[in-house]
Amino acid sequence: MQPVLHMRACASWIMHCSMHKMALLHSPSSLHLHSARHLSSVSRGGFLASRSWSRRHHHRNIRVCSLRVQADAGTVISEPTQVEAEFVDGVLGLQQMSADGRSKQKTSELIFLGTGTSEGIPRVSCLTNPDKKCPVCWAATKLGNRNRRRNTSVLLRYCVPDGHHLNILVDAGKFFYHSALQWFPYYGIRNLDAVIITHSHADANGGLDDLRDWTNNVQATIPIYVTSRDLQVMSKSHYYLVDTSVVTKGTAVSKLQFQEITEEPFFVHGLKVVPLPVWHGPGYRSLGFRVGNICYISDVSEIPAETYPLLENCDLLILDALRPDHSSTTHFGMPQALEEVRKIHPKQTLFTGMMHTMDHDEINGQLAHLLDSEGLDIQLSYDGMQIAIDL
Ligand SMILES: [Zn+2]
Ligand SMILES: [Zn+2]
Repeated sequence: MQPVLHMRACASWIMHCSMHKMALLHSPSSLHLHSARHLSSVSRGGFLASRSWSRRHHHRNIRVCSLRVQADAGTVISEPTQVEAEFVDGVLGLQQMSADGRSKQKTSELIFLGTGTSEGIPRVSCLTNPDKKCPVCWAATKLGNRNRRRNTSVLLRYCVPDGHHLNILVDAGKFFYHSALQWFPYYGIRNLDAVIITHSHADANGGLDDLRDWTNNVQATIPIYVTSRDLQVMSKSHYYLVDTSVVTKGTAVSKLQFQEITEEPFFVHGLKVVPLPVWHGPGYRSLGFRVGNICYISDVSEIPAETYPLLENCDLLILDALRPDHSSTTHFGMPQALEEVRKIHPKQTLFTGMMHTMDHDEINGQLAHLLDSEGLDIQLSYDGMQIAIDL
């Protein structure tokens, strides 16, 4: 279920429950008083679901009430499923894994863990500005709103022949924990089979420390693919992860197996990954990556001539598009991103890395016209977006 659907379910459920609460508060039944107490908590926000309440109450208009809260926005939502969901920072949703840990999906897929700029959307400063209300950031405070964006990152779920999925993470930025918290339970993702790093800015690798939860509690280590130049930077920014001999005995940090890559193709669990070298500001190199006919470039201000041949016959291009008007020194703006799409000719394009001047619905409306006028199939990606891919 997509977030927007949760919003609809949420609105109708809250309306229903607030009416129900009124009735409950006037009921002499101890059971109803119990429910009313919980509902009072709900009305204040910051409430965790009552399992017993969920089990005992079936509203007329809802199959099962599994009550949940978006902790950071204080919004109560409901999920009409059999899943007992008790905690969430956003959405805790459908479990897509069967008991043996295999996804029900039989294809490879991409899950967008983040599609926004470094400071995230909403910007805190937009919500505290007394002089001007930023429509995109305020819209982004609502659960399920597609303007809500964290640092760019994508999870490639590579489906191997036995139907098992290998989870290959591209970038773990500053907001990785929050992205994982929202989307890993939602999509039933537990392990991380590899991490690939595009470059060493904080919004691409600031979450490496949080991988400790995986290597402490899920798996022994995580292979991480990184260029030597970025490893050099990490040996300063994350020195204790690169040289674990400095770690105080008994302290648990992320156990990462650093695999140095160059700008030549490499293999991750048998999957061929082709680096797409690009400029991300003058003199600063970042990598995009190609798997099969899928190309991902999240941080780019210029595509060098030698990289264009690597982008030929692209089915899906995921491309940096910071804002609607002009480019910055480090990122494509939408006009330049569109020029690149015209040059590269992918069958389909999804933009990523959008800042708060890019309203999801408004920009998608504009982009939709390009399908009619130029045959360009382009839309904005959004956090939590899941798409099936052929590998
Ligand atoms: Zn804003
Ligand atoms: Zn960057």
